[in-house]
Amino acid sequence: SLTIAKYDAELAAAMQAECVRQQDHIELIASENYVSAAVMEAQGSQLTNKYAEGYPGKRFYGGCEHVDVVEQIAIDRLKQIFGAEYANVQPHSGSQANQAVYFAFLKPGDTVMGMNLGHGGHLTHGSPANLSGKLFNIIPYGLNDKEEIDYDEMERIALEHKPKLLIGGASAYALRFDWARMAEIAKKVGAYFMVDMAHYAGLVAAGVYPNPVPHADFVTSTTHKTLRGPRGGVIMAKAEYEKQLNSSVFPALQGGPLMHVIAAKAVAFKEAMEPEFKTYQEQVRKNADAMAKTLAERGLRIISGRTESHVFLVDLRPKGLTGKAADAALGKAHITVNKNSIPNDPESPFVTSGIRIGSPAITTRGFKEEEAILVANLIADVLDKPEDEANIAAVAAKVTALTARFPVYGA
Ligand code: PLP
Repeated sequence: SLTIAKYDAELAAAMQAECVRQQDHIELIASENYVSAAVMEAQGSQLTNKYAEGYPGKRFYGGCEHVDVVEQIAIDRLKQIFGAEYANVQPHSGSQANQAVYFAFLKPGDTVMGMNLGHGGHLTHGSPANLSGKLFNIIPYGLNDKEEIDYDEMERIALEHKPKLLIGGASAYALRFDWARMAEIAKKVGAYFMVDMAHYAGLVAAGVYPNPVPHADFVTSTTHKTLRGPRGGVIMAKAEYEKQLNSSVFPALQGGPLMHVIAAKAVAFKEAMEPEFKTYQEQVRKNADAMAKTLAERGLRIISGRTESHVFLVDLRPKGLTGKAADAALGKAHITVNKNSIPNDPESPFVTSGIRIGSPAITTRGFKEEEAILVANLIADVLDKPEDEANIAAVAAKVTALTARFPVYGA
């Protein structure tokens, strides 16, 4: 059979250019990572050919005896990593994992409490632009003056509005969540408690961020962020919810599971149980700390004042910059970040006053504190003179020298 390069040169060129970009740029998007060659091998395997509607031992198609083994391995590993009673590895994405929980336990019009998108929450936790915000009566909670989650206020709002579901987890919140406190609030008002730990899952697996599984009724996650697996979603829960959640994923929301992706999830879960994974996640934390401290020393403001995870937000207003302008200037220097609203942002979500920075990808390629500090200084160099093309070119040259020393997939 032909390679893509021989069969489809146009497509191959774009794919190859993306590989070069991933090598030559400093990737600081907090939700991205570089998966192992083994994860890619599973995802590029013949398992993509197999239909397997249903669950291991209970399929609607023949010939599932081997993919049954694959899916059961993934389920068992996921349960073991997080101490879960039940796991479903079929959700195609984090969004679908969340939808499956909502579909299983909520009716349109029900009241749901999730973190304010503008304070760090995720679209699927009740944004008006998302199905969750359109179907449910969303009451957001958020941060206090110190830019920390205000649990007293959360409790007050919960008592007032009596939600059916309380959602923990975020896409742009640097600090630890207090899962026990949230569980207590949910219990007090008779709400289900769901945690979407998509961002923190890898840190949780390594024991460097609190595990929500003992506290929550349902825990959803993506598998491709700090957890460093293929793109996809998972759900964990107490055993009593197995039937409802399984039927909510299939047949309510999805058809056939992506068996090649489930195999890749299984590989990533095995990797997450290795001692090196703990070392990696500890380094993720150290690198995030080092970058946040250096940027603060260079005159930028870190939202919440610090990070306790892999991610943090930077307030660019001390430099008179918007997120949009900073994102563009850094991009020219081959430093990839995303513009991000900061709490109470005066700018629109398309402009913003902030950027989000994460350490998972640079840590995978081998950066330690020394390189993380260098990266933060390069960011500050760009942001000091974002219109100065010669300055940006000088930073880009330093990025090229740095990235060349750390090949992502070998030389
Ligand atoms: N949940 C959280 C907290 C996220 O940050 C994200 C992705 O950014 C998702 C869910 C959605 O995941 P996916 O892009 O796989 O649908």
